[in-house]
Amino acid sequence: MTHETPRPSAAPKSPSELRIVIIGAGMSGVLSAIQLQESGYDNFSVYEKGTRIGGTWNENTYPGLSCDVPSHLYSYSFELNPDWSHRYSPGEEIQAYFENVARRHGIPSKLRLGQEVVRCVFENGRWEIALADGSRDSADVVIAATGVLHHPSVPDFEGLDRFAGPQFHSARWDHSVSLEGKRVGVVGTGSTAIQITTAVVDRVAEYKLFQRTPQWVMPQENPLYSEAEKKLFRDRPETLRALNADIRLLFTEGFSNAVVDADSPQLAAIHEACEANLEESVRDPELKEKLRPNYRAACKRLIISGEFYAAIQRPNANLVTDPIERIEESGVRTADGTLHELDVLVLATGFRVDRFVRPMEVVGRNGVALNDVWEKGPFAYLAITVPEFPNLFMLNGPNGPVGNFSLIDIAECQFAYILQLIERVRSGACREIAASREATRRFDAERREAAKKTIWTSGCQSWYLDADGVPMAWPWTFDRFKDEMREPRLDDFDLR
Ligand code: NAP
Repeated sequence: MTHETPRPSAAPKSPSELRIVIIGAGMSGVLSAIQLQESGYDNFSVYEKGTRIGGTWNENTYPGLSCDVPSHLYSYSFELNPDWSHRYSPGEEIQAYFENVARRHGIPSKLRLGQEVVRCVFENGRWEIALADGSRDSADVVIAATGVLHHPSVPDFEGLDRFAGPQFHSARWDHSVSLEGKRVGVVGTGSTAIQITTAVVDRVAEYKLFQRTPQWVMPQENPLYSEAEKKLFRDRPETLRALNADIRLLFTEGFSNAVVDADSPQLAAIHEACEANLEESVRDPELKEKLRPNYRAACKRLIISGEFYAAIQRPNANLVTDPIERIEESGVRTADGTLHELDVLVLATGFRVDRFVRPMEVVGRNGVALNDVWEKGPFAYLAITVPEFPNLFMLNGPNGPVGNFSLIDIAECQFAYILQLIERVRSGACREIAASREATRRFDAERREAAKKTIWTSGCQSWYLDADGVPMAWPWTFDRFKDEMREPRLDDFDLR
């Protein structure tokens, strides 16, 4: 597909004259589409490689999938939902929420589903976009809403392909495989594996959880909302807004702001609650010690579960802590020589978190490839823009506050910021806008320094850390993030 759009000039344009391409129709792509439309920018398309919108919630369909951010917080601010079923609603319900919101805002007409963008090249002041099916587009502005945790990380276990039964990564769940009465093994003890464990342990004959590193588990109930509560939220929207505000405050103060200050009293309280949970919930002293981490709570992404310890103590459940030596035809061989015979093997082994917009090829000014610029690790000024890649804006890009805040709140703040950058291009204030090298260097140095104070550097291995052991995530409070996102500091930009 080719769009005839005039070459950019410094003359102001109407919003409809600015051609915008959004890549990805997950939570942040749908948000961008809605907000662009609301702001009068209607000349845009959303390319999505999947066949449905939803991103994470479309790709992950494993049993027990839910969001451990409370549903009334994990909602668009302009589309609070009176009908959430639980405090932490299941994945299917979240997927349906995004689909409904997108439909209500007329987004389907803008969607190009099943269309994967493979290449974006900045040429003559425009982004030239190539799709996997050979078609093309061209845009003044590209918004990369490509997600963070979605390229499965599959360990290169020796013999993995020799396993005779079904095996799959948690984000590629094979629903044609019945687990009923089977011997099922799950590798990993991240949020995903813990949710799978509690959901499937009672359906299977034998359950084995292969743990490399124990996790702290924060107990949390997951009550249903009553019909009376939902009616109240529907009839009196101010109660819904108040609930959203209360949860936001609790979550931000009690957790999100705490993780960036390893000495905070909130973190000490979280650690105590996790320790008490382990002490009180696990009877067998040997199992208790196997489950006890040797690092501080929240150093790795905290597990939120009121059911995991009960699930792993079921008579048919087994926690395997001997390292995996190899995979054989009939199961998993651990370093102690034991063969754990299995019918189904699930790899809940996480994601390649350094990918961001990749494997898409992105080429900025003067033929510079983003892949080369990011050779030592991905970075972006304020998680949004990279020098020499003008008019390319990322949502939930590198160094953003991922993992400890509601990603929806984050994306809303980021989009409001991006809209102001787009507005500069539209108004003719400039044709091209990207962070300057100097501002990006400064931001990177400051965030590396600030990261030393976070809980993530307190002595554990996690997906927050880059290859040098430096946390990649936003190391400051959510309030600071909101302040930064209020208005771009134009001195930090290279405007042409
Ligand atoms: P993860 O947190 O990265 O966990 C991966 C697990 O696989 C870890 O236990 C890891 O062990 C293990 N593992 C990886 N390679 C291994 C190997 N070669 N041998 C043995 N074990 C291996 O991945 P995830 O559980 O999919 O979660 C990723 C993130 O997604 C979470 O942190 C969270 O931010 C998000 N998430 C959120 C929710 C939610 O409810 N909001 C639910 C699921 C996921 P080590 O710990 O030893 O590395």
